[in-house]
Amino acid sequence: MKNADIIIIGAGISGAVLAERYANLGRKVLIIEKRNHIAGNCYDYIDENGILVSKYGAHLFHTNEEDVWKYVNQFSNWYKWEHKVIAQVDGQLVPIPVNITTVNKLFGLELTSEAEMKEWLENNRMPFQKPANGREAALNKVGQVLYEKMFRHYTKKQWDKYPEELDASVLDRIPVRINTDDRYFSDKYQALPEGGYTKLFEGILNHPNIEVVLNTDFFDIRNQLENYEKLFYTGPIDRFFDFMHSMEDKLEYRSINFVSETVDAEYFQENSVVNYPGKDVSFTRIIEYKHFGNQQTDKTTIVKEYTTDEGEPYYPVPNAKNGEIYEKYRKEAEKLTDVYFVGRLANYKYFNMDQAFKNALDLFKSLEPALAEHKVNAIKTVV
Ligand code: FAD
Repeated sequence: MKNADIIIIGAGISGAVLAERYANLGRKVLIIEKRNHIAGNCYDYIDENGILVSKYGAHLFHTNEEDVWKYVNQFSNWYKWEHKVIAQVDGQLVPIPVNITTVNKLFGLELTSEAEMKEWLENNRMPFQKPANGREAALNKVGQVLYEKMFRHYTKKQWDKYPEELDASVLDRIPVRINTDDRYFSDKYQALPEGGYTKLFEGILNHPNIEVVLNTDFFDIRNQLENYEKLFYTGPIDRFFDFMHSMEDKLEYRSINFVSETVDAEYFQENSVVNYPGKDVSFTRIIEYKHFGNQQTDKTTIVKEYTTDEGEPYYPVPNAKNGEIYEKYRKEAEKLTDVYFVGRLANYKYFNMDQAFKNALDLFKSLEPALAEHKVNAIKTVV
């Protein structure tokens, strides 16, 4: 294995950002990636129907972070894309997050103002001062009927646990709108990269100081890596410490089984994402990728998502037991001086893409304060 100043495990957002930053400081960077592609979970490609699809689920970029927005604009053009999600409930398609239209459609009402929606919520929600679990958190926000129709079974499908078995924090953040805004996110910047995320990553990694080695698991070549200045690890933290030699200390994750189908029709559904919160079907949602960027093709590709315990680690399971296990690893990680744990798997934390960009940019700044300042200024003048 070749030597380098900076070794990075993983070519996702976290790894790519650190590679780019250090390469621009004149360091030789080597990225080791076990998959056969760059871009981590953001990876996308053109499928057999000529449609740009994401291998690991639809990825919608949204951020309020000015520095992240400036950073990503250096490597791709972005087009505005305000994502919308609809859900199939009682045979109707209704907007998510819950807003005035959702309530009007499901209950046959004609609410028009914010005041009326507030009043409806007040009359229907079940107040809990300090919700003890996910069920109480959801009832506190939306009340019994919406909870049953939209959240109870969806949560079971997503986590294989009913809301009462989960921390309040999991459902405490359900957004509820008191107006008719049907956008899924409310961030200042909501956009998609022209040509897709893989192309964006090609831009970030396009530097003579960066070498990417694909199809290589760090744990197979770990002993061959030496004389580096720093190693950044973006894989699962428990695997790094060999699970403390006990599978009792394996951190739990939920995964997704993506089942793709070609449909011989111009469109399958009216929106890119349709959620299925009911218990009548076992998938959580159907994505129709050609909607993103209004792609024109004869046929269409749809992907049904089934959440499972087996497979690639996607969602950390937020409960007290996993919190305690993660804490043990964090303390071990702190003892290492030239190894840094970055990104969603190494921090055992769900990060949106912008948080992953920010996390990596902030780490770089904290490690190289003088140099980072110089470079950040340089970015400001470029954009
Ligand atoms: P990753 O992208 O997971 O990168 C880690 C890389 O390390 C991977 O490529 C992995 O193969 C590699 N690796 C791991 N172990 C090893 C090893 N032993 N040896 C070599 N390589 C290794 N965010 C949004 O903002 N909007 C969205 O719409 C959105 N949708 C999402 C949908 C799904 C289904 C999921 C799971 C996530 C979604 N996200 C979304 C979050 C987004 O995917 C993450 O923020 C982002 O991928 C985090 O980047 P990362 O670099 O930390 O991790």
